Amino acid sequence: MLDDMFDYLEHLRERPVWQPIPPELRETFRQPLPHQPGSLDAAHQRFMRDILPHAVGNAHPGFMGWVHGGGTPVGMLAEMLAAGLNANLGGRNQMPVEVERQVTRWVRELFGFPDSASGLFVTGTSMANLIAVLVARTTALGLGVRQRGLAASGQTLVGYTSAGAHGCIAQAMDLAGFGTDALRLIPMDAAYRMDITALQQTIAADRAAGLTPFFIAGTAGSVNTGAIDDLTHLAEVAEQEKLWFHIDGAYGALAMLSPELAPRLAGLEHADSIAFDFHKWGQVPYDAGFILVRDGAQHFDTFASPAAYLHREERGLAAGAPWPCDFGPDLSRSFRALKAWFTIQVYGADQLGASIAGTCTLARYLAQRIEAEPKLELLAPVGLNIVCFRYRAENADALNSRIVVALQEGGIVAPSATVLDGRLAIRAAIVNHRTRHSDIDALLRATLALGDQYTQPSEPQP
Ligand SMILES: *Cc1c(COP(=O)(O)O)cnc(C)c1O
Repeated sequence: MLDDMFDYLEHLRERPVWQPIPPELRETFRQPLPHQPGSLDAAHQRFMRDILPHAVGNAHPGFMGWVHGGGTPVGMLAEMLAAGLNANLGGRNQMPVEVERQVTRWVRELFGFPDSASGLFVTGTSMANLIAVLVARTTALGLGVRQRGLAASGQTLVGYTSAGAHGCIAQAMDLAGFGTDALRLIPMDAAYRMDITALQQTIAADRAAGLTPFFIAGTAGSVNTGAIDDLTHLAEVAEQEKLWFHIDGAYGALAMLSPELAPRLAGLEHADSIAFDFHKWGQVPYDAGFILVRDGAQHFDTFASPAAYLHREERGLAAGAPWPCDFGPDLSRSFRALKAWFTIQVYGADQLGASIAGTCTLARYLAQRIEAEPKLELLAPVGLNIVCFRYRAENADALNSRIVVALQEGGIVAPSATVLDGRLAIRAAIVNHRTRHSDIDALLRATLALGDQYTQPSEPQP
């Protein structure tokens, strides 16, 4: 199995990025519950034949569809060790928890946070954003909110983020009981950053209406265009208004690993909390999200609970409090920290940063090629690693969505489609450390060929 996966990673480029799943194959996964044992060999064969060739393909250098990391062989091996150990990282007196604490220290160091900051591995930034909203809520309303709920406060809390923010922030407001209407989506400027004047006006209007502003979420690397909000300015507004300042840095925050990119994230060090993913630009295998909270005590107070079966001791297996389960909703937790620790330990922070900067260099190359090509147009400024563009045509929306599907089905490069200011864009998010100039060239070549083909007069119009 190890050999198969090394072969897979070594020969990725010879495979299609993605290929559609034949209906008959899908059917073979509608079997009744197997009662008798089967052979490991047979299960392995089916994995190789039926599952492996039909994954999303984010390990492939031609994958540019969404902001997905590529993974590494080192991460894969660490996952094997973690699975063999089968550690439960809810807590207790064990070295695996120390590994998570070590990674937390590295994260604090990277983001310039104090030693009192707390950190926790979670599934992804969706969960990390939810945790941040909950800590901000407890900070705004006091510990009693955990017993009495939101309604008892008699206040209507409202939060703020950019209209370009990821949908999981609205979802976090929903899950936390505020409802998505309590999240104000502030318009963006021409560079797709939150318009700070509009933010201040909205806060003032909400206060005048008797509402209680409590939370601002800035974005460092927006999902659509890679835009970075003006974090320094947002931190000032949060400070003046006494609001919790959270940053969704799902993929962008790790740009701190690159000396060339880090200055673009100025202001990040002022955040009250940062959500980000090791599984995107950090290239750690899925899943490996992370939440960092400046004031570890507030974080602890939001989640810790005194259950008898979680009783702590000074010595023995139940020592070592506080435990990871005191900082989030999960009690049973996998050893995600190990694959992050291995990745950082083996590649080193500088090399990870160089791979992040490398994807931005490729994005700039793609943007330059698009600007030099009259048949194509760039639809948003390229700040980091995401390029939104399209083939110019009369019925451009339909044509470009057709191009995206054809590219994906063609298996050479796989961008995705998004909508910017009502216009359909081909979106190339370059995240994978395996992507090269030749993959960018292939994207351009195939896009132009498809666009030319679909605009031929003889061609049935989409
Ligand atoms: C990917 C992403 C998320 C969601 O993170 P998950 O790890 O998929 O839960 C949130 N915000 C931004 C900006 C993202 O790019």
